[in-house]
Amino acid sequence: MAYVTTYPYTNEVLRKYDPMSDEDVDKAIDKAGQLYQSWKNNAVASRKPILERVSQLMLKNQDKLATTIVHDMGKLYPEAIAEVQLSAAIAKYYADNGERFLAPTPLLTSAGNSWVENDPVGIVMGVEPWNFPYYQLMRVFAPNFMVGNPVMIKHASNCPGCALAFQSIIREAGAPEAAYQNLFVSHDQIAKIIADKRVQGVALTGSEKAGTHIAAEAGQNLKKSTMELGGNDVMVVLDDVDIKKAAKLAAYARLWNAGQVCVSAKRYIVEQSIAPAFMKALKAEFAKYKPGDPMDKNTTLAPLSSKGAQEKLDQQVKDAVKNGAKLEYGGGIPDLKGDFYNPTILSNISQKNPAYYQEFFGPVAQFYVAKNDDDAIRIANDSNYGLGGSILTGDHKRGAKMASKIDTGMIFINGMTQVAYPELPFGGIKRSGYGRELGPNGIKSFVNQKLVSIT
Ligand code: NAP
Repeated sequence: MAYVTTYPYTNEVLRKYDPMSDEDVDKAIDKAGQLYQSWKNNAVASRKPILERVSQLMLKNQDKLATTIVHDMGKLYPEAIAEVQLSAAIAKYYADNGERFLAPTPLLTSAGNSWVENDPVGIVMGVEPWNFPYYQLMRVFAPNFMVGNPVMIKHASNCPGCALAFQSIIREAGAPEAAYQNLFVSHDQIAKIIADKRVQGVALTGSEKAGTHIAAEAGQNLKKSTMELGGNDVMVVLDDVDIKKAAKLAAYARLWNAGQVCVSAKRYIVEQSIAPAFMKALKAEFAKYKPGDPMDKNTTLAPLSSKGAQEKLDQQVKDAVKNGAKLEYGGGIPDLKGDFYNPTILSNISQKNPAYYQEFFGPVAQFYVAKNDDDAIRIANDSNYGLGGSILTGDHKRGAKMASKIDTGMIFINGMTQVAYPELPFGGIKRSGYGRELGPNGIKSFVNQKLVSIT
């Protein structure tokens, strides 16, 4: 497993990092295990000032942190800045609210004075992806830090710069070294870490394939896990929308972060009376996205995260077309340096086409036409995934009625699926995984909800 920063805009290898030995990993677990024992006696509030400082330091260092994202995985600089700010907001949110969320809950019972307290459980092992290299880490670190669970993270192998930058911010803020440890480890070493008895929680954000492996390893060892996996989110466009406005939002919801977002609007489901006009407006919006240098503020389309990602996406589009899909717009790799893919719209995708059930992790949208609201719900639910989704409509009541019939963990009416609010719980159902991060729910993922009863 090579940890390497290869800049996706130039394909230049910027830095290689040494992997950790098994002895290094043992030492890391030892340190985290000792910290867990000492933290058991500390009040939640004692950690609040450090998490506040993490938030402040992220904001203070935002330029440097954002540039590291750009170099690791090619994100546009302004989007990288927004991610650093969001990560700082998550730290602040749990610093401000952690103590309240974790306060004991009194129970109404005839059994005497009884309550449930929220105790730490032990080390939490996170395995994280590259698409939001700090935000994904903060979703795990901030709540568990307040709980008192030491966190160890295996970051994606193409994001080592961000992995180390995140760790240094936490240490600079005054957290004990073992509160957060970055591990440059292999997939095999992850299996051994999950099996260690001091590790009590496993949090994965990544692909469905990684989810099946890591959830199985957690299950075999009877460790609680959360799985934040892939998605094939819909954006349902009802016949009462302002078409131009809806098309602008739809294009952004698919193309930001070069389409590499678990909750991107990957499938547009458009009601038939507006479908031709919406397609026309959508193509005009897609045409506005221009690839280029991610550090240049005029660039609107980032490269994909790696050559491998570019090749995989290109093959998926070719296979979709071979199986009958119509290439409405774009397609192919532009003649540019860097790992770009042209913004693309596919239509006429039948259920027999493998593309119908696949997640395309890049700037490729699928376009479906629905006869009416019920037909739109049928198409939306005909998916193995169930992460997020959105409905665009001029009638909120109609949207809300539809929202409760769509099988996902999150649904947004008249907006794209949001990642920008620390207070909103995030997670999916079906093959998008289980458990929730963020919000009040996220901090309870790895706590011992212990009953205490005085009779
Ligand atoms: P990935 O290949 O699953 O990688 C994610 C992380 O898992 C990386 O750190 C990777 O390490 C590690 N990993 C993969 N297989 C493993 C195994 N068998 N054992 C141990 N570790 C393993 O995911 P990706 O393709 O980079 O990321 C995109 C996927 O993540 C998409 O499907 C996207 O929808 C999903 N995602 C979901 C959410 C959510 O919140 N639901 C958010 C963002 C992304 P290496 O890099 O070393 O292989």
